[in-house]
Amino acid sequence: LADRLEGAWKKLRGQDKISQSNIQDALREVRRALLEADVNLQVVKDFVTEVETKALGAEVITGVRPDQQFIKIVHDELVQVMGEENVPLAQADHSPTVVLMAGLQGTGKTTATAKLALHLRKLERSCLMVATDVYRPAAIDQLITLGKQIDVPVFELGSDADPVEIARQGVERAKAEGVDTVIIDTAGRLQIDQDMMAELARIKETVQPDETLLVVDSMTGQEAANLTRTFHERIGITGAILTKLDGDSRGGAALSVRHISGAPIKFVGVGEKVEALQPFYPDRMASRILGMGDVLTLVEKAQEEIDLADAEKMQEKILSANFDFTDFLKQMRLLKNMGSLGGIIKLIPGMNKLTDDQLKHGETQLKRCEAMINSMTRQERQNPDLLASSPSRRRRIASGAGYKETDVSKLVSDFQRMRNMMQQMGQGQFAGMPGMFGG
Ligand code: GDP
Ligand code: MG
Repeated sequence: LADRLEGAWKKLRGQDKISQSNIQDALREVRRALLEADVNLQVVKDFVTEVETKALGAEVITGVRPDQQFIKIVHDELVQVMGEENVPLAQADHSPTVVLMAGLQGTGKTTATAKLALHLRKLERSCLMVATDVYRPAAIDQLITLGKQIDVPVFELGSDADPVEIARQGVERAKAEGVDTVIIDTAGRLQIDQDMMAELARIKETVQPDETLLVVDSMTGQEAANLTRTFHERIGITGAILTKLDGDSRGGAALSVRHISGAPIKFVGVGEKVEALQPFYPDRMASRILGMGDVLTLVEKAQEEIDLADAEKMQEKILSANFDFTDFLKQMRLLKNMGSLGGIIKLIPGMNKLTDDQLKHGETQLKRCEAMINSMTRQERQNPDLLASSPSRRRRIASGAGYKETDVSKLVSDFQRMRNMMQQMGQGQFAGMPGMFGG
């Protein structure tokens, strides 16, 4: 998309704002890109209409070119349609949590069953896998083999038993043994088939799952939409797993599945190995579908949010002795405006090795600082040294912000240390807030 959109963008770039006439080329390219990524035609139509409405209604942001603004609108809309945040697997109030797997044959249900079990085991949730695919000769063995690999037990009654009965007894077994989650693997057909649907519906009615996951092969293309509609209408799904994303599919099925069922995609399969399962992140998928490099996103975000002139002024101030808590807060808000810290940091080459925990920690720290600074008087913000010498001021701020006095002390001493460091940096580049993210 990035290449082909270039032409359309260039046209937009010459304009000073987005209008009905200058946006048409760009919309056509978006449409084409989505179809190329195998998003269903109807879904594409709805999507493009929505983007057009949003783009025309968007306020002009000074300092942002219309082409940048447009691509951001497209990206944001994609993220929104796919669900803004990753939705974890359901957990029942009383164990066992029952998960039912559904989908066509060959999509990766059995593999995903084992992947999910391994994922849960790593979260210290015990699992039982139930083999109800009695139609394919090797299906039960396949699950048993996978179970051995990941050290998760498999419940089966051979290939002569009734799948509904296997599922029922499997859940009973999980209950009796105090297993946390029971995952029911089911049979699929090559095509949607009434017998298969009827059997799935009966299994569902019998075991009353907390989660019914549709397993969709991301290479399915246009068909993903019909498939989702049929399964959702007949069985009712609560989520989906998109498999085989390690291939070169652009992942357009993600958009179709979500748009049609409203159910979130919870995981993606990225390989044949049992470890190859990842949580689904809408923003990453949006970039993949659009085919834009993540770095591009970073540049855009930065350009949108930072007024360069302002940044220069700030740099001077940071490097001088006059940097105070008000500036500090401004800096933090700037960072926050740029989206989640995790999102930003991960886009920086070399920084993507930070763990989610470290990133969470950084964000929590920012929130704490902000709360404490908000509880300061203006005088205190302008003159941080006041706080260094007054325990009563620190106590007042601490109780106002809901933290301990030692937290305020730490903020003050961190701040002072940082200010000294900045001053020493002298001519150094504006480099954000060193020391803020350290654990
Ligand atoms: P089922 O018929 O729905 O149970 O599908 P299976 O779990 O048996 O998988 C069918 C084939 O797809 C197997 O060869 C799997 O190894 C393969 N497969 C499953 N998930 C993935 C994935 O995420 N990536 C890749 N490359 N292959 C996968
Ligand atoms: Mg199978």
